[in-house]
This record gives sequence, structure tokens and C-alpha cells, in this order.
Amino acid sequence: MKPLDEIAHAVGRTRREFLRNVASVTLGSTLVPSSFARAAALPKQKKVVVITFGGGARDQETFAPEGQENVPNMLRELIPRATFFTQVVNRGILGHYVATASLATGTYETINNFAALPPENPTVFEYYRKELKRPSSDAWVVAPSNGFNHIGESSSRSFGPGLGARVILPKHLLNAAIASRQADYAHLLRDNYESPYLTPELSGSDFELEQLERLLKLSVDDFKVHARTLSSPDELSVYIAKQLMRQVAPSLLWITMHDIDIAHAGTYSLYVEGIRRTDRLCAEMWKTIEGEPEYAGKTTLLILPDFGRDADNDAGGNGFQHHRTGDALSRTTWLIAMGPGIHEGVVYDRAVDSLDLVPTIGSMMGFSALLAKGRPITEIV
Ligand SMILES: [Zn+2]
Repeated sequence: MKPLDEIAHAVGRTRREFLRNVASVTLGSTLVPSSFARAAALPKQKKVVVITFGGGARDQETFAPEGQENVPNMLRELIPRATFFTQVVNRGILGHYVATASLATGTYETINNFAALPPENPTVFEYYRKELKRPSSDAWVVAPSNGFNHIGESSSRSFGPGLGARVILPKHLLNAAIASRQADYAHLLRDNYESPYLTPELSGSDFELEQLERLLKLSVDDFKVHARTLSSPDELSVYIAKQLMRQVAPSLLWITMHDIDIAHAGTYSLYVEGIRRTDRLCAEMWKTIEGEPEYAGKTTLLILPDFGRDADNDAGGNGFQHHRTGDALSRTTWLIAMGPGIHEGVVYDRAVDSLDLVPTIGSMMGFSALLAKGRPITEIV
């Protein structure tokens, strides 16, 4: 076994033990998946919501005994109703944009993390829309920073232009909604925790203000007033995502959280606060799914980090603050899957690859994701 696989396996096993002790889950290897029975019971027009868990967090602050107070919603509300994979290994580049693009294409992308470039391989949104002939209103991304404005559509020749997801950048929207940058909104408009001087300019065509009123049925004034009550960019993203679910009800919705990445600033309490908020927002999203008639009973929710953070004992890293060493801990994340047909309270500790996400969504929704490198996760499709 290579060192990464070996450590990832150990991390997965330990994570499993953490959960068994607290969230009343059983080990999945004893269960035989029954796809046929489940397929028959699955409702038509299935929807999938993906949430990336905020720039990654370590077990010390999440699933380990000392971290469990930070994720009460995942432990008590979500995981007991989910299938949980303890070992999702990311073998790609650990930058948030490129890693999220890799998750969305099922291929390890090598684009410059800080450049305003589309992914090179077809995204899950393009597969979905092209193969199932879905309109652009049916696939959406809500993303945290201006750097994500190309995440919805690749530069792939046989896919690409006109087949991607529509991307909402809530901060861009808010910035457009307020005539000038007011101090009141500064905390919501912070774009990126890693590289403050790199904020790609946007053309302004990604989402026009009139769409705020026409699509989301939000007046600019109401939006501004409500935004002032929100404490973070991720709160803003979830607020917009909920509005989108109510008004447009896309079948494929991808929300990238990012608050946790404030860890780069080096303040531990802000990092932990980000984890607690993300934990709460994930549960809120599930509640919204269950409460919205367009989503209830036919939606799979998939929650996973793009990657983790460095280990404390790595000489080249700074522990929680960064993810610069590419060590095994920062590469070994997890996945929560919940929804109709998915076993509840089950944990699997076999290795899953980050690239398996897209083929898995393909199997769930009925498209092939031809060029994606991963494989469907059989336990949940
Ligand atoms: Zn980061």
C-alpha cells in the first residue's frame, strides 16, 4: 500500500469509530445494497443537491470527540439519516477552485487555481443537460467567490458553450445591488481567504440584477435589507439557494461553501465558528429540501469537503491554518449521502475517490458522464 492509501485507510477507520460512538450508525459492509428494489421505489424526476463543506475542516474540529460539539447538526440530524463514507481521497491539486472543478468534472483538473479559466473537462452540469436535454434553468451553481464564475461550463469542445450550469455569485449580486460598497456589507463581500489581491473581474453578464427580481422574486431593496441580517458569505449563499429552490426548483443544484477557509487568516476561533455555521447551514438545506414540495421525497443531498487541512505535526504545514503540504490528512475527506433509497445510519470505510462524485450523480439521475474518471459509488446508486 502507498503511504497515502495507508494513512487514508487509518483515518477512515478512526472516523468510523468516532461516529459509531456518537451517532448510532452501523457498519455498512454487513449490508448488501439492493439497487433493484430501490430503483423501483425511486420517484421520477429525481433531484440532486451537492454541498461542498466549506474549504475543509479537520477531524479534531469535527468528528473526533473534542470536535463533536462543533457539528451537532451533522451528528444528530444528518448522519443518522445518511450513508456516510469515512474515506474520500483527493489525489488532485489542493486549491479550492481547481479542486471544486475536479469534483464537478470527475477528472483531476490542472487549471491554474487563481486564473479565471473554465474546467477543461465536461462538468456534471453539461453531462446532465446534454444527455437528458435539460434547459439551462435546471442546473445551477451557487458559488462563494468571483473566481468561481466559470465553474458551470467547461472548455471541452464536444460539451461546453451553452450546455453548462447557470452560476450565481451571491457576493457579486450583492455588490451590484448596493450602489457603492458600504461598510455594512463588507463582511459579506470578502471574496477569497487565500489571495486578497487576486479577484478576477467579472463581465457582469453572469447574473443581471433584473434576474434577481424576475427569477428569484426578490426586490433589490428586500435583498439588501435581508443581506444586512446575515452574518457570513455562506449565509448569503444559502439564502440565495433557498430562493432559487422556491422559485426555479432546479434538478441539479451545487452550492459551494467557503466560510471555513477563513482559517487562512490564522484565527482559530473564526475557523471553528465557520465550521459551526456550515454544520448548521447544511442541516438548514436538508430542512429546506424536505419542506419544499418540488424537492421533498425525491432529492438526494450529497455533502463533502473539497479537501481537508494540514496535520498539526507536519513540519511543512501550519495545522488548521493551511492546506499547503498536500499531506494524507488534507487529502482524506468524507461524504454524507441522504435521500430516498439511501440507507440510513450506515457507515462505509472503504476508499472512495473524489472523482467518483460525478459518475455517482450520473447513475442517480440517468446520464453517463462519459469522460469522467471515477466510478459510481454502488452503495448509494
Ligand atoms: Zn484555503
